[in-house]
Amino acid sequence: MTRQSPRAAKPRGRRPGGDGQTVFQGLGVAPGIAIGPAHVHGVELPAFAECAIAPDQTEAERGRFRAAVEASKKQLSKLKQKTAGLPAAAAEELGYLLDAHVQMLSQSRLVRGVEKRIVENLTTAETAVRAEAEAIAEAFEAMDDSYLAQRVQDVREVGARLVRNLTQTPWGAFKNLPEGAIVVAEEITPADTAVMDPAIVGGFATVIGGAEGHTAIMARALGLPAVLGVADLVGAVRPGDTVIVDGNEGKVIARPTAATLERYEKRRLEYAKEERQLARLSKLPSVSKDGIEFALGANLELPREVEQALAAGAASIGLLRSEFLFMNRSDVPDEEEQYQQLAEIVKGMAGRVVTVRTLDVGGEKLASALGDLSPGPNPALGLRAIRLSLARPELLDAQLAAILRAGAHGPLRILVPMVATVDEMKQVREAVGKAARRLVRKGIPIADPLPPLGAMIEIPAAALAADALARVCDFLALGTNDLTMYALAIDRGDEQVAHLYNPLHPAVLRLIQFTAEAALRNRIPVSICGEIAGDPRYTALLAGLGIRELSMSPIKIPRVKSRVRNLDVQSAAARARVVMEQWDTKAIAGLVDEFNEGLVRAKE
Ligand code: PEP
Ligand code: MG
Repeated sequence: MTRQSPRAAKPRGRRPGGDGQTVFQGLGVAPGIAIGPAHVHGVELPAFAECAIAPDQTEAERGRFRAAVEASKKQLSKLKQKTAGLPAAAAEELGYLLDAHVQMLSQSRLVRGVEKRIVENLTTAETAVRAEAEAIAEAFEAMDDSYLAQRVQDVREVGARLVRNLTQTPWGAFKNLPEGAIVVAEEITPADTAVMDPAIVGGFATVIGGAEGHTAIMARALGLPAVLGVADLVGAVRPGDTVIVDGNEGKVIARPTAATLERYEKRRLEYAKEERQLARLSKLPSVSKDGIEFALGANLELPREVEQALAAGAASIGLLRSEFLFMNRSDVPDEEEQYQQLAEIVKGMAGRVVTVRTLDVGGEKLASALGDLSPGPNPALGLRAIRLSLARPELLDAQLAAILRAGAHGPLRILVPMVATVDEMKQVREAVGKAARRLVRKGIPIADPLPPLGAMIEIPAAALAADALARVCDFLALGTNDLTMYALAIDRGDEQVAHLYNPLHPAVLRLIQFTAEAALRNRIPVSICGEIAGDPRYTALLAGLGIRELSMSPIKIPRVKSRVRNLDVQSAAARARVVMEQWDTKAIAGLVDEFNEGLVRAKE
C-alpha cells in the first residue's frame, strides 16, 4: 500500500466552480469596476538575460541557486505566518499550498534537476530553473491525474519565485502585463502597489488584507478597483482568465458568463458617468448650505497624485505620506534626493499648503530601505514612526532638512506621526531648529518663517492629552485609522476582524470630539486625515463635532464636497449632540444613516 501525504489525501478543491463562472465575496476596499485578463501574481517569470557559463563557474552558479532556494523558503515561511490571520478554512487551504511549495524546494526533483542542468548544460541558474520547472509542469500536464494537474501551477509559482530571487526582481514589478490586467495574488504589499501603473493594471484582488490597511489606501490612491480578503481566491483563477473586480460591492467574478459580463460592462459605464458628473464639482466652493466653509484637502501616497489632487480641486495636501521615498529600494534616500522629490510636489501644488508627514514606518508599514529594521515582538506597539525617527537621528535630520529646503518653494507644514507625548514634540521642534540653523549657516535657502509643526493624533493617549499637545503644536491632525485600531484593539489590516473595526464606536467618537475641542480651546487648526474623512457617510457627523478640515484620497473629494454643499451645519451639530449621548454603536449608525438619508432626499 502506498502512503499518501496528508496533503494528497485531502482534495483541495482549488477551483471552486470548476471552469465556469465563479463568484467570490471579499472586502471592497477601492471603488469602481475593472474587467480584464487575470495576471496571477507569482506565476509569471521575470525577464532575465540568457547566457552560457564556463565549466569553472558551475560551483558559483550552484551557490547562487542554493541561496535563492533559502531565500524562497524564508519568504514562504513568512507568508505562512500571515495565514494565521485568515479564516480557518482559508488558512488551512493556503497552509497546504505553502507547505507544498516548501517541499518542492527541499531535495526535490526540481532542486536536483536544476543543479544537474547547471553542471551538464553550462547554463545560468535562472535558465536552469525555467527549463526544469517547465519540464516538470509539462510532465504533470501530460499525466491523466487530477492531483498532478493541480500541481502544475504550483511548480510554475515556485520556479517564478526562484527566478525572482535570483534576478532580485522586486516582488511587485508589474511589468509586461496586458493592458487592463487584473492582478490576483495571495498578498499585495503597499510597496507592490507603489509600482503598479494604473494605465496598465486594471484592478486587483487578494486573499490577505483588510479595508483600512495601507494596501487598501494605496489602491484608492491609484484609483484601482480592489477587493481584499477573498478567502477562496487561491488557485481558483488561472492566468489569462477573464476576471471582474467590483470594488463597490466587494465581489470578484472569475470567468464570467456573457450575461454577467454584459451586466458589469453596463455598471462600469454608469459608474464612470457618475464620476464624470461629480468631477464637475471640482471648481465649486466647499461651503455648506448655512455658509460654513470647509477645507477639503488631499492625502498623497505618491508624487504622481499631485495632478489628481489638483483636478479634484483639493485646497491643500493635508497629508503627504513620505514613506514612498523609502519604498522598493535597498538604500536610504539622502537629504538631496528627498529634497528634490518634495520640492517637485510643493511646486506642483502651486501655492497650496503641503503637509509633509515625517517617516511613518514600522508596524505593517515596513520600508525595504531600512532593511535592518526588526518588527519586534509586537510591531503595532514597537519602534515605529516618530519613535524610530528619534532613535535614528540621522534619518530625522535628513528628512527635516529636506522638508525645510522644499519649504523654500511654497507653503508647507511638518506633521509628526504616532506622537504619544509632549516630550516627543519638543524633541522634534528642537531637531527642526537645529536642521534650520545648519542649513542657514551653509547659505541654503529654507522655509522662512519655519513651517508650522503638528502632531498626528492617532494614539488614544494623545487624543486624551490633546490639551497638552495643543500647547506645543501649531496644528493637530487626527489619524482616525490608527486611532480606531488602537482604541478598539482591532488590527486595521486584518480581514478576520474587519467587521469589528468601527469608527462609530462611542469611544472613538469621544476621542475625536475631545481632540477637536482641545484644538478649538487652544486656537489651533485641527483636521482629520484618516479614511473616514473621505467617506461621505461621516461628513455630517464630523462637521457636527466641529471639524472643518478633511483630507482624503483625491478620488474621494467630489463625493464629500457634494455632501458638504448639501449640509446645514447647525442641524448636523444638533444631530451630533444626540449621537454623542448614545452608547450603542448600532444606534449611532442608525442615527447617522437616518440623517444622511434626509440629506440625500432633500437633494433629490
Ligand atoms: C491614520 O492613521 O489615520 C493615518 C492617516 O495615517 P496612516 O493611515 O498612514 O497610518
Ligand atoms: Mg496612522
